[in-house]
Amino acid sequence: MKKSTIAIQSPFPHRDAYGAIAMPVYHTDAYEFDNASVMADAFCGRINEPDYSRITNPTVIHLENRVKALTGARDVVAVNSGMAAISNVILTLASAGRNIVTSRHLFGNTFALLSKTMTRFGVECRAVDLLDEEQVEKAVDDNTCALFFEIITNPQLEVADVAMLARIAHKHNTPLVADTTAIPFTQFDAHALGVDIEVVSSTKYISGGATTIGGLIIDYGTIKDFDERLRRDTLMNFGAYMTPHVAYMQTLGLENLEARYALQSANTVRLANLLRTLPQIKEVNFVGFTDNPFHTRMVSQFGGSAGAMMTIDLESEQACYDFLNALKLVKRATNLFDNKTLAIHPASTIFGPFTPDQRKAMDVKETTIRLSVGLEDVDDIFEDIKQALQ
Ligand SMILES: *Cc1c(COP(=O)(O)O)cnc(C)c1O
Repeated sequence: MKKSTIAIQSPFPHRDAYGAIAMPVYHTDAYEFDNASVMADAFCGRINEPDYSRITNPTVIHLENRVKALTGARDVVAVNSGMAAISNVILTLASAGRNIVTSRHLFGNTFALLSKTMTRFGVECRAVDLLDEEQVEKAVDDNTCALFFEIITNPQLEVADVAMLARIAHKHNTPLVADTTAIPFTQFDAHALGVDIEVVSSTKYISGGATTIGGLIIDYGTIKDFDERLRRDTLMNFGAYMTPHVAYMQTLGLENLEARYALQSANTVRLANLLRTLPQIKEVNFVGFTDNPFHTRMVSQFGGSAGAMMTIDLESEQACYDFLNALKLVKRATNLFDNKTLAIHPASTIFGPFTPDQRKAMDVKETTIRLSVGLEDVDDIFEDIKQALQ
């Protein structure tokens, strides 16, 4: 079946007692067992029945199964946020004395996790330019427990050569971990590109209507013991499993992801081209432009569409603030890939806690506005941006 069919039709683990066609929300902490030995089997993982909702829950399993069917992964674990997905993967792979190779061009909290939080536990962070093969070769060694990258960095909008990263990682038996939040996993095959473990903030494209925070860990089964350690150690002991109501909302989001993405990514191409005609905008950065330096790589790796994120550069920081303050339709908000168009000034918000020097090292500029393009009519979005610039 095609992905748009799988996203809607993949079956429940058990038929609902009443034949409900939407997955019921199992708002329960615990599950009763027929007898003590079945209970022992469930607790020890010898049978696959839920025992406690910090560890597994039928509504969450249903979402996990759909993502498994869509990606061909060996296992999918749904957690409380994108950051929980990232931290649970890192906590499963890392130990004191080992290192993580990554880039300074990362989501702000991910960079803080790797460069601050994890270093308190004796895990070294090696931030290099992941576009530079020589630097990556030099940084990865047999003590590297993860090579971590984002498929399109934000807000720089860089696209790394995934096959190059995979070749270097695998030479050292190092897992290649990709944050693929920027393009839905239905659009490309991360495993075929050499990714071992995919992490996704399902808060973004999957949730769609900006209803819920969530994260997905998509495990292709190529790292020895990873799934066992993730499920039976990290997930149980850190307790970040997704809650059933969130899984319900995100399953609904997943059902119409393909339709939303087709419209949203097409809207973004149209809007980006319109914004290029405005004299107040110094630069429009969008990987979907055919003259963008990463365009060819993006097409060959991620299936041809560039997502719904772009940045625009204005004259000054003050011009960015004035622009944001004058918007009437576009929302001043963080988040990405909502149904609604969103605008944010990353330097003073997401990257606000960093020093100006750190922001400079991350290539986060004071003059940049990030736009996440929604499902509204492009003419209306363009009109609002045009009047706000004036
Ligand atoms: C939003 C985001 C995250 C964090 O996800 P949350 O759901 O907010 O915890 C991580 N990586 C990327 C690329 C993101 O856009």
